[in-house]
Amino acid sequence: MRGPWRIARIMGIDISVDLSWFLIVFLLVYTLGFLQFPQELHPRAAFPRADGVSILLGVLTSLLLFGSVLAHELSHSWMAIQRGIPVTQITLFIFGGVARIAEEPDRPSTEFVIAVMGPLMSLALSFLFGAAWLWFTVIQRAHWIGISLTPIILLTSILFQGNGTLALFNLAPGFPLDGGRLLRAFLWGVWHNVRRATLWATRAGEALAVILIAVGGWLLLVSFDFAGLWYALIGFFVWNAAREGYRQMLFREAMRGLTVSQLMTRAVETVPAGISLQEFVDTHLLPARDQTFAVYEGGLFEGTIASSNVDRVARKHWSTVSVRDTMTPCEFVSPLAPDQSAMSAFAHFARTDEDEVPVVANRQVVGFLGRRELSRYLKLHDGQL
Ligand SMILES: [Zn+2]
Repeated sequence: MRGPWRIARIMGIDISVDLSWFLIVFLLVYTLGFLQFPQELHPRAAFPRADGVSILLGVLTSLLLFGSVLAHELSHSWMAIQRGIPVTQITLFIFGGVARIAEEPDRPSTEFVIAVMGPLMSLALSFLFGAAWLWFTVIQRAHWIGISLTPIILLTSILFQGNGTLALFNLAPGFPLDGGRLLRAFLWGVWHNVRRATLWATRAGEALAVILIAVGGWLLLVSFDFAGLWYALIGFFVWNAAREGYRQMLFREAMRGLTVSQLMTRAVETVPAGISLQEFVDTHLLPARDQTFAVYEGGLFEGTIASSNVDRVARKHWSTVSVRDTMTPCEFVSPLAPDQSAMSAFAHFARTDEDEVPVVANRQVVGFLGRRELSRYLKLHDGQL
């Protein structure tokens, strides 16, 4: 029940909303439909009350604001897809939206064009809604038509400001905001060193976060302005995202160029398929460390067996049941290939709950790779990061 919930699919990308998104939609609808719009729609009333028009307008404006956030993220995604980088999901949450772009760009120019698309879309939308707002305001002032245009003027005015703010905030030069990505792309292009470029863009992101938190704290504590809470929360969000983005870059750098065969353990213990489970337990499982065994029959790899397979068979059947009956057969094992990238092996373990998988070439098990080997490699490698 915790979400995020998928609400649509556009360009092959799942559009989801996070639980926190409902909170911000509720806050927006309330602030606009019940507080701001009644006042502006009935400026002469002593106590303006929310009515059908103000509430409907509040809902419509909020949805269009999130449509704008979505358009921003879709623009990034569209460009990523154009550059051959798949995008799997866009999630809307309390601070806006985030597109899950499957890989980091491998060139500064790619990073630049992907990062610039979002703010460009927001600027374009801001310009469009600004022009519409101006146009309707002129018509209203000139009394060209009999009906009041106030609702549509309010709507376009908020979307003009909203999209403008979205563009400007995202252009702030701190990683991982769009502006920070542009900065990183620029430094990367100049230095030809993605690590150093990310480090400095991340520092800029942390500085931005500190400024946001300080301004928020000032507003809240000195001016008793609750908008400060919002600034501070966004500041914490930016701080964490900057740290996380940097950590992921280091991780990718550590994995760069590595293949499965460089990380796997080459110690492969084989078991004949025909022996009984009891014999397997006594002669293979008990004397060894906790591991997966490769089951062979007639010189070919037939499946894997580990203590978890044995657990599923009642002890009294151990002498009558064979390894062949107990193993996980080949067709249910999703093996890795030795020349596969280490990154793809990580993705494999992130997707599944397997602990260890065989590395198979020409139907022969050449090694095993598990979470254990991966984390050991990272631990040993960390010293050099
Ligand atoms: Zn963006």
